[in-house]
Amino acid sequence: MICLKNTTAIYPGSFDPVTVGHLDIIRRAASLFDNLIVVVMTNAKKAPSFTVSERVDMLKKTVADIPNVKIDSYEGLLADYAKKTKADVIIRGLRAVSDFEYEFQMALTNKKLYPDTETLFLTTSAENMYLSSSIVKQIGSMGGNIRGFVPDVIHDFIIKRLYGKDE
Ligand code: ADP
Repeated sequence: MICLKNTTAIYPGSFDPVTVGHLDIIRRAASLFDNLIVVVMTNAKKAPSFTVSERVDMLKKTVADIPNVKIDSYEGLLADYAKKTKADVIIRGLRAVSDFEYEFQMALTNKKLYPDTETLFLTTSAENMYLSSSIVKQIGSMGGNIRGFVPDVIHDFIIKRLYGKDE
């Protein structure tokens, strides 16, 4: 396994909520880089279902067993956050061709705004290819079974928030 020493990677996203697809990317990135910061970005164009502090708390519980991962949140441009944290690498996950165009544009823009960072794409694990936060929210809000879609440790909290029931 490669582990790049003295490197800081950031993994930005909405994480509304964090899924096992995100967790898979987090674990793999944490084994590649010395330090990984998972950062909840406030995106004015998206109306989130969970507050920033809920999303941060869920991430903290999710990564509690991974020592080199920190959780943060940021309101503003990703390039500015990368500069602030002196990030060497921005991690993004790719699921399908449909992710590609937006991700490609973002990567080029961030390179232009902050040339010291590289965007690195990790491909989804095949079993998580279909999984997104939106799917979790659609199923969960109608009382469907989202076990296995989200980390076990935050499952009950998500169900309670989306469907209003204790499990
Ligand atoms: P954003 O609003 O920034 O797209 P998301 O929380 O939806 O935030 O996703 C954050 C990152 O995680 C994105 O790069 C996305 O492609 C990736 N991602 C989301 N779900 C999966 C998955 N199931 N497998 C791999 N990567 C994923």
